[in-house]
Amino acid sequence: MKTARTDPVMSLDTKKNIYVTQPLLPSLEEFLPYLREIWDNKILTNGGPFHQRLEKALCEYLGIDHIALFTNGTIALITALQALRITGEVITTPYSFVATAHSLLWNGIKPVFVDIDHETFNLDPAKIEAAITPQTTAILPVHCYGYPCNVEAIQEIADEYNLKVIYDAAHAFGVKNAMGSILKHGDLSVLSFHATKVFNTFEGGAIVCSDVKTKRRIDNLKNFGIVDEVTVVAPGINGKMSEINAAFGMLQLQHMEKAWVRRKEIDSFYRKHLTGVGGIKQFEEAKEVTGNFSYFPILVQSEYPITRDALYEHLKDRKIYSRRYFYPLISDFPMYRGLPSAHRGNLPIADEVSRKVLCLPIYPALSCEEQERVIDAIRELQ
Ligand SMILES: *Cc1c(COP(=O)(O)O)cnc(C)c1O
Repeated sequence: MKTARTDPVMSLDTKKNIYVTQPLLPSLEEFLPYLREIWDNKILTNGGPFHQRLEKALCEYLGIDHIALFTNGTIALITALQALRITGEVITTPYSFVATAHSLLWNGIKPVFVDIDHETFNLDPAKIEAAITPQTTAILPVHCYGYPCNVEAIQEIADEYNLKVIYDAAHAFGVKNAMGSILKHGDLSVLSFHATKVFNTFEGGAIVCSDVKTKRRIDNLKNFGIVDEVTVVAPGINGKMSEINAAFGMLQLQHMEKAWVRRKEIDSFYRKHLTGVGGIKQFEEAKEVTGNFSYFPILVQSEYPITRDALYEHLKDRKIYSRRYFYPLISDFPMYRGLPSAHRGNLPIADEVSRKVLCLPIYPALSCEEQERVIDAIRELQ
């Protein structure tokens, strides 16, 4: 059939799928020497040479004092709460990936959801105080999309009520504010190196802390609580990162600058071409912040010709797989919705944002043609 090639429906079919993200994967050839080194020295895990090198390299790259590598971000979150002996109630955000709140349940802690700020989508400091009870021991905020929380306001409240602060910084790899790394705020920050994140080790995560003593406690906890051959001091978990993952992290680090530049270009392209599209609200760029451009969230407002879910389907029909991060809210899942703080009326901003948000594809390998496809699909309904 001669006409098939020019038939728009057919040509649509031949187009590549565009996912919301694609892991940064250096070539296999680049990775082989790292593998050879592991095979040569025959150390596979338990704080081997690559594990040590990656901890050192990440401290330098991120501008932080101490880091403890983990097998994934969720085990790191669970361990961070144990490291600080958090109990009772913890104030957190409903607008995040479900692992944030799950880490509390895994520690027998009661999550208390507080609403988000409508500009940053992060925990609203103005609403924290009202949620504090005598059982409250900590605050677990998320730097959502890598946009920094209001760290000063949160610290002020924590100081006043003697609460610990653990940041779920899974989205915030490499993010800096005027004072340097965003990971230096609070008592601990937790990173995820999952394949979908900006910096990945296939699976992986880390806890960032500021003193040697805490680092030692975390290192014990991620290794069954073992201190030496005959001493076990806590019911720790197996949270260790293996040598293969750490080696991949070392390789991945070399590609971070280049990847950051590509993400920034895509961010600028989207910003430029979505400006003036009626009903599409973009995120304001935070002042004095070096972001990591890990996500590109938009809000689909009522002025846009179709709903958020209809736009999601419209993009999918064009093989563009955007994601509704974060919908549903964590507080709407069955294991949380019975909590008094999970009530929708308590979380009006988070509820509204989660119904309007859509994260557009952004990753270093996204070509110019693909970026245009995304923009065209959104603009063609205007
Ligand atoms: C990815 C993510 C996690 C979990 O990290 P894993 O490494 O996948 O276990 C936790 N919190 C947030 C906000 C995340 O995005």
